Amino acid sequence: MLDIHKIREDFPILKREINGKPLVYFDNAATSQTPQVVIDSIVDYYSNYNSNIHRGVHTLSQEATDAYEQARKKIQVHFNAKKEHEIIFTSGTTHSINMVATGFTSFINKGDEVIVSALEHHSNIVPWQMLCERTDAVLKVIPINEEGELLMDKYENLLSNKTKLVFVNHISNALGTINPIKKIIELAHNVGAAVLIDGAQATPHIKTDFQALDVDFYVASAHKMCGPTGVGILYGKEEWLNKLPPYQGGGEMIKEVTFEKTTYADLPHKFEAGTPNIAGVIAFGVAIDYMNSIGFDNIAAYEKELLAYGTEKLLAIDGLKIYGTSPEKTSVISFNIEGLHPYDIGTIIDKLGIAVRTGHHCAQPIMDFYNIPGTVRASFSFYNTKEEIDTLVEAVKRAKKMLS
Ligand SMILES: *Cc1c(COP(=O)(O)O)cnc(C)c1O
Repeated sequence: MLDIHKIREDFPILKREINGKPLVYFDNAATSQTPQVVIDSIVDYYSNYNSNIHRGVHTLSQEATDAYEQARKKIQVHFNAKKEHEIIFTSGTTHSINMVATGFTSFINKGDEVIVSALEHHSNIVPWQMLCERTDAVLKVIPINEEGELLMDKYENLLSNKTKLVFVNHISNALGTINPIKKIIELAHNVGAAVLIDGAQATPHIKTDFQALDVDFYVASAHKMCGPTGVGILYGKEEWLNKLPPYQGGGEMIKEVTFEKTTYADLPHKFEAGTPNIAGVIAFGVAIDYMNSIGFDNIAAYEKELLAYGTEKLLAIDGLKIYGTSPEKTSVISFNIEGLHPYDIGTIIDKLGIAVRTGHHCAQPIMDFYNIPGTVRASFSFYNTKEEIDTLVEAVKRAKKMLS
C-alpha cells in the first residue's frame, strides 16, 4: 500500500493553487510532475560539478562523466538491456524516432512496406511518412475497433516479406490502450521486419524488459516519468545500432577526423554528437531511482484503482461518453459530453484549478476514427487521489450546467 500523502509531499508543485483553488493535476500523459530529489539533483549538478563530459582530465569533468555514465547504467538495468551502450541519450521520444526513421533511409527500397498503427502519436506517424516519401516505400496502417484496440487479424494480413519495419506505441496517449506488443514483435520478426516501440506512455506505468520483449528499438522521454524535459532514450539492439548510420555529425561521435575520411566512434558515442543534456541525463537516473523506490507494482495497482473509480464516477454524468474502453488500459480517461465542445469544458474546469488536456492529443487519426474534434483527457498518476477525482467530477458537472 502506498502512503499517498507522504508521496505528495515529495512534489512541491502539488502545493500550488490555481485561481485560488488547490491544483488538481490530471495532465500526466502530457508531462509528469517532478519530485524534489530530481530537482535537487539538477541544482546539485550546476552548483557543484557542472563540467563537460568525456573530454577533460580534470576532476569536475570526471565527476560529471561518472554521474552521466552511472545514469546510463541505471537505465540499462531498469529496462534490462543487454549492454550499456545500447542506451543512447537523446532529447526525447520525438528525437529518438527521427534518428531511426532517418537512419533507415539507406535500408529501405522502393516498394518496401512499413506498418504503423492507427493509435499513434503524430511523432510516430510523421517521421515514417517522411521516410516513405524519401524512399518510395508504402505506409500501411493497422486499424482499430470501437474500444480503441488494434485489430490483430488485420495486422497479420498486412505483414509480408515486403514489410521492413513496424512502429507501434506500447500504450496510446490519447486512449490509454495497452497494445499487445510482444505478439506484435513476434509476428513482425516472423517476416523479417524490425520493430520500433514508442514507449513514451508506458514507461511511467510499467517496468518494461527489453530483452524479454526481443524489441529492436524502444524509445521514451524522461519528462513523462518524473524526470526533466529535454531528455530521452533510444534503445536499440547492438547489431542494429552498429548498422544504423549516425544522425548528426560533430564532436564526441568520431574516432578520427581528416578531410579525406572520418571514422565514427563506438557505441553509444556514435549517436551522441555534441554536448548532451548532462544535468538532465543525471536527473533522469534519479527519477528512475525514485519511481523504483515507490515500486512499479504498487504504482500499477494504485493507478488501476484510480482508473476504475474515475470511470465509474464520470460515467454517472448524463451524456458523458468515454473513448478507449479496452480492458487493457492505463489510467487515462478520454471523454466528451454530448453537445459540448471539449475546449469549453477544459477552460471552465481550469478556473476551478483542474489541469486536463483538451484537443486531439497529437493523434488526429484517432479523433477522425470516432468522428470527433477532440476529447477532454484526464490522466492520473500515482500521486493523484480519489478526492481529486471527486473534485473533477463536480467541476465537470458544473461546466455542463453552465454550458448547456
Ligand atoms: C509524449 C509522447 C510522444 C512525444 O514525446 P516527446 O517527449 O514530446 O518527444 C510520443 N509518443 C507518445 C505515445 C507520447 O505519449
